[in-house]
Formats: sequence, C-alpha cells, structure tokens
Amino acid sequence: MTRWLRARVLVIGGGINGTGIARDLALRGVDVLLVERRELGSGTSWASSGMIHGGLRYLQKDPQVTEHSCIDSGAIQRIAPHLVFRIPFLMPVFSDDPLGPELVEIGLEMYDRYVSLKNGHPHTRLTRAQALALEPALSDAIECAFTLDEWGVDAARLCAANALDAADRGAHVLTHTEVVELLRDATGRVTGARLRDRIRGDETFVEAELVMNATGPWVPQLAALAGEEVRLRPGKGIHLVFERRVSNIAIYARGVDGRDMFTFPHEQNSMAGTTDDDYYGDLDRIDVTEDEVAYVLQAMERSIPSIQQHRVLHAISGVRPTLFGFGAYEDELSRDYEIVDHGAFGAAPGLYSMTGGKLAAYRLMAEDAANRLCAVLGVDAPCRTAELPLPGGEAPADLLALAKRFRIAPPAVARLGFRHGARARSVLEAGEDAHARGRRVVCACEPVLDAELRHVARAEGLRKLNDCTLRVRLGVGACQGAACAASAAGVLAEELGWDAPRTVREVAELAASRWRAVAPVLSGAQVGAMELHRHVNFGMLGLTEEILP
Ligand SMILES: Cc1cc2nc3c(=O)[nH]c(=O)nc-3n(C[C@H](O)[C@H](O)[C@H](O)COP(=O)(O)OP(=O)(O)OC[C@H]3O[C@@H](n4cnc5c(N)ncnc54)[C@H](O)[C@@H]3O)c2cc1C
Repeated sequence: MTRWLRARVLVIGGGINGTGIARDLALRGVDVLLVERRELGSGTSWASSGMIHGGLRYLQKDPQVTEHSCIDSGAIQRIAPHLVFRIPFLMPVFSDDPLGPELVEIGLEMYDRYVSLKNGHPHTRLTRAQALALEPALSDAIECAFTLDEWGVDAARLCAANALDAADRGAHVLTHTEVVELLRDATGRVTGARLRDRIRGDETFVEAELVMNATGPWVPQLAALAGEEVRLRPGKGIHLVFERRVSNIAIYARGVDGRDMFTFPHEQNSMAGTTDDDYYGDLDRIDVTEDEVAYVLQAMERSIPSIQQHRVLHAISGVRPTLFGFGAYEDELSRDYEIVDHGAFGAAPGLYSMTGGKLAAYRLMAEDAANRLCAVLGVDAPCRTAELPLPGGEAPADLLALAKRFRIAPPAVARLGFRHGARARSVLEAGEDAHARGRRVVCACEPVLDAELRHVARAEGLRKLNDCTLRVRLGVGACQGAACAASAAGVLAEELGWDAPRTVREVAELAASRWRAVAPVLSGAQVGAMELHRHVNFGMLGLTEEILP
C-alpha cells in the first residue's frame, strides 16, 4: 500500500550530519522527516575514529576546522557527557623522524591555544624515561615524547541520540527506508521524494518544502536523482579493532610513507588507524584488504613493538565525504565543509547537499544548515542544540546505586550508563518483569542486558538484530556474536513480533556481517576459531549464506 507523508523539511541520511540537522530543526519547531536507508550512523559516522578533537594535522592548512572542532567538542561534552571519554595521547619522537622535538613542540604550542575550548590540558614534554615509565609498551628507541589531551565519543550512539531527541521533539524518523526518487514539479523544483522501506518493501511518497541531502559519501548519487552533479574526493579509511585495550593511553604512530596514525582506547577495545585513500568502489561493500591491515600494523609496530602479539578482532572501513580537490594527496585535502544550494548553483531549487566536514564539528555544521533552511522557511527560532542535553545527558546517573537496586554486576550497569546516561534507570525499570529477565546479560563480551535490548526495540525504533552491533555494541566483542546472536534474536522476536523464519534470517545476517568484519584480519589459529563461531550460527540453524540479501 502506498502512503503519503508531508513535512516542511525532508532530511536524507541518518549519519551524524543528517541526525544533527534533524535535531536542530525539530528543536526550532520545524516539522521534519528524517530517512535513513540502513541503521542510524551505519555509514561513515560509525566508521570514524570517534575523536571529537581539533585535529592537530589540520592546524597548518585548515585552522578554522581545528577551531570549529574544538568549540564543538566542548559543546558535545556538555550535551552528552555520558557518551564521551577523555583520551590522553602520547606522541613519541624518534631520532629519524623528519621533525625533531623542538619543531614538534612549536606545533603543539599552537594546538594548546585551542585546548581550553575542548576542556583539555596543554601538552607536556616527557623524557624518554618518563614516557617509558608511563607506557612500558612504548618502543625504547624513542628520543622523548609529548602528551596531548583529546576526547572520544561513541559515534553511532551519538547519531542515535540526535535522532531520538529529534523524534522526542516531534520529528518523524524512518530507518531502513531509502530515497529512491526525488519528486520535482514542472519548474524543476524538488518537492519531495519516493521512499522504499527496505524491510517491508512498501513505498511512501513525501511532500516537502525543502530537501536536505546529508548522505555523506552517497551525496553525489543522491544529487544525481535530481540531475545535479556534486563532486567529492571520497577517501577510504580503515581501523583495526583489538580484542582488548592495548594501552589506556593513545599512542601516535607513523606510517612507512610518513602518515600520522594512532592507536587509541575506544570503549572496551583499542583501535588503530587510519588510512586515507581515494576510493571509487562500491559504497555498500567497502572491503578491507590485506595490504591495508599490514600497513596499519607496521606503523603501530614502530611505536609499540609488541603490537603483533595482540589479537586483532575485526576491521572497520568507511569512506570520508571529503570536499573535491585536484592534485593534492588525500591527507592534504581540506576537512572543511560546504552546503550546496542546488537552486542557486544548479537547476534543482528546494534541494541542498552537505559535503565534507568532521564528526567533531557536526553540531556547528548542523546549525549552519538549519539557519539556511530556516531563513528560506521564514522560521526565526534560534538554535538550541548547544544548550539542551541529548537524551541521557540531563544529569549524571548513580550507577553503583542502580547496580545495587537491580542486583546487576557494576560493569554491566556501567556500560548501560555509558550508552543511556540518566535514562539508564528507566531502561532497567521498564525491563523488570516477574522473572527478572531484564537483568540477564545477553551479550557477555560488552556486556548487554536483556532490558537494554527490549528498550531499544520498544522505545528507540530499532528494527533489525544486526543494528544492535551499532546501537548497543552487541556481538562486536571476542565471540563476534557466536554466543549471543540467537539469544538476542529471541528477545527482539518477542518484542517486535518476528516469526521463526524472520528470526533465523536476522541471526544469519548478523553472523554474515560479523564474518565480513573479521575475515580480513584472521590469521593462524584464529581462522579455525572464527570458522567454528560462524558455523555455530549457520550450522546450528541449518542455514546457508545464500538466504542472505
Ligand atoms: C576512517 C575515518 C575516520 C574518521 N575519523 C574522524 C574522527 O576521529 N573525528 C571526526 O571528527 N571525523 C572523523 N571522520 C570523518 C567523519 O566520520 C565524517 O565527516 C562524518 O561521519 C560524515 O557524516 P555524514 O552524516 O555526512 O555521513 P554518513 O555517516 O555516511 O551518513 C550518511 C547516511 O546516509 C545514508 N544514505 C545514503 N543514501 C541514502 C538514501 N538514498 N536514502 C536514505 N539514506 C541514505 C547512509 O546509509 C548513511 O547512513 C572519519 C572518517 C573516516 C572514514
């Protein structure tokens, strides 16, 4: 059955930019519809390093990017304190580095000018002995080291939080819903879109006064639906995710070609990356190659010689929607952003596209976009996204008291508190039933509680088991879903009314997506172990991968 919806603004893309714009508009009282063709945050946003920093490397060419990112980092820390974590960094200097300690320190002194914006500490210079005492895993070939202070965020959860807040303020949010056509009137004006629900297969037509294309690296494809050309310099980046923390301090590393990289603690794991390479392949299948894995590990090994002894759990890949530039190396391209008005600079009035930018500056970018759209709509309400907390950011949660009250192990409550902040209590209360099922740990690696799964299904509009990897980090730990996928699918089936074939298909999809993430990093005994895990899900359910889309 075809249905019609109407909104003043249609925002396409549920990454950090689309969710940020939808929230900003909803807070100004604008009637907004947000559509995402997969799970919220599942594009580039989730594949990012999740750093809300200024970016030391942008200081030289793009100081405004550093400044905006630092200002916004401060704002994100204020509105979502539960979702951010401090990341102290060590930058080792080797005698064969192109810049000696004095020149490195000049750069860090400049970067220090921005630290107060993001609630950081200025750098310090450490002797070799001091650095090794602080981080024994560091190479003893270093000459000295510097400290820096940065912040990280759970990027997928930040997207979800923005979308949830937009929905709380009246926005309509549709996930697994793809824009397949842009509607235009006789003058060429974009007046809405045709949407396809990728799970149910039905179609919806949307009428909108304005359409914002916030589809990240897919921006050119979406703009092409209106006959418009947007040029990007898409840059593929990968991360390796270690099974556990390699160190509690992030450590800079240098690639064989001189690129700066780092390994950094991220939630339960350590991550290492990233690469930046021109990419013209399939955006829905961004494979990680053996070369990329070797390149990242080689860089890390120079700073942390023991790195190869740590288990790499899986790889993450994504594509930056970097602004187009000809002739420059990927690293040298601007990280600034642009908002294209296809009426002023093309033949599709009513359509806008956002390109480039940083996760760290998403709120400011969204504010700029919303200001422009509101000027056209005649809305003069001011932006409030820097003051009003995101869901869960209202007040600190007393996690130990919750652990005692609900008789749940403190680490499980701590993870819940990290993702839901002040709302952790209501998640646990809603999960309470006569059998105390809500307290059950479904995914032991992270850990994820039965109550949290029920909450995301009931209150957050989650539609697929595989989406739990982003929404609550289920299945991304050591077992990669082997121990929890079937059990979690059972909980969601109960909440969402799935029948048996649908439930089995959900498990198979999660198993297949985890396999794609681990396959590029497998070596030695891990190959057998992961094959076994895969067959736990596929073999026990009698599935073959042919059933997958
Ligand atoms: C490896 C890597 C590391 C990075 N590290 C950092 C970092 O540490 N800090 C930082 O600030 N920035 C970082 N970035 C940059 C940052 O991730 C991006 O700038 C940001 O996430 C882009 O967000 P977006 O919303 O524009 O795009 P996306 O997150 O890709 O969102 C676009 C969404 O649009 C959806 N979509 C596409 N087509 C359609 C359609 N037809 N209908 C409906 N929906 C559609 C997609 O499914 C997708 O979810 C990094 C990027 C990469 C690749």
